[in-house]
Amino acid sequence: MTDLHPFIAGLPKAELHVHHVGSASPRIVAELAARHPDSKVPTDPEALADYFTFTDFAHFIEVYLSVVDLVRTPEDVRLLTFEVARDMARQNIRYAELTITPYSSTRRGIDEKAFMEAIEDARRAAEKELGVILRWCFDIPGEAGLEAAAETARLAVDLRPEGLVSFGLGGPEIGVPRPQFKPYFDAARAAGLHSVPHAGETTGPETVWDAIRELGAERIGHGTSSVRDPELLAHLAEHRIALEVCPTSNIATRAVADLDAHPVKEMVAAGVLVTINSDDPPMFGSDLNNEYAVAARLLDLDERGLAQLAKNAVEASFLDPAGKEKLNAEIDTYTEQWLAR
Ligand SMILES: [Zn+2]
Repeated sequence: MTDLHPFIAGLPKAELHVHHVGSASPRIVAELAARHPDSKVPTDPEALADYFTFTDFAHFIEVYLSVVDLVRTPEDVRLLTFEVARDMARQNIRYAELTITPYSSTRRGIDEKAFMEAIEDARRAAEKELGVILRWCFDIPGEAGLEAAAETARLAVDLRPEGLVSFGLGGPEIGVPRPQFKPYFDAARAAGLHSVPHAGETTGPETVWDAIRELGAERIGHGTSSVRDPELLAHLAEHRIALEVCPTSNIATRAVADLDAHPVKEMVAAGVLVTINSDDPPMFGSDLNNEYAVAARLLDLDERGLAQLAKNAVEASFLDPAGKEKLNAEIDTYTEQWLAR
């Protein structure tokens, strides 16, 4: 069997479901921890590798929150954002919609305008210096309730940074019904932002229906349980509502028992627009290239199949038409050149 890793590594890619703090690699965490010596996070790479070895989901949340705690100043925000883009550039990710939870930073006392300036400064630098186009999805941390929802909508609509394209909803699904967030999604959508809530990761297909009907979802974060409802799959396929599939994350959080049981095959067979993403890559010991390799195995893809997967992400993205055309052309040229070697 052909080793597809070298092809994947050079393939120009777009990523649609990846979290800001959740993308902090041990290298970035070490830099942030060095800026804040009072934190309990280790600064040397070896100790950090141990620190990043998760024993269970509760441990993952604990580590995640300790990284959140390292982002204290606008300069930390800028550093994190730009360095995440550097890790993306190394994987040949050319375009990414990064999910940011501004509420966790503003609540911690970072000035909201300085926060927006920091991410925008990093975005411009990433495009210019690294060739990575970044866009933002501001998401509501569902567990923080309606106050957080109102605050996130206010930040998105009133302070709207140039790179902001969408509005999301993350955190736990169990006990956090999607319909309660309708007014905030309505406000964001009225301001021209796209709707991309997480749904159907840890709960059933009814949550995905709620996301579509109540929140106007144009893409679904995860949507793993959609395969339990054929009518839902048909609806997703017909309306080109893409699923943001994150295989390794689904195993790490136990949304899916093991990779071989991953329902991505059924999604594709039903004609759903499937995109492959990494979610919180270093925290799950993965990256987008690895997720593409996993997808190639699960879906039995060759180089052209992988190129199509990359183009699915371009189609489902909120990049402008000219940008989409350019990225698709890059993917095609790369693939044809690779196959003609
Ligand atoms: Zn996510």
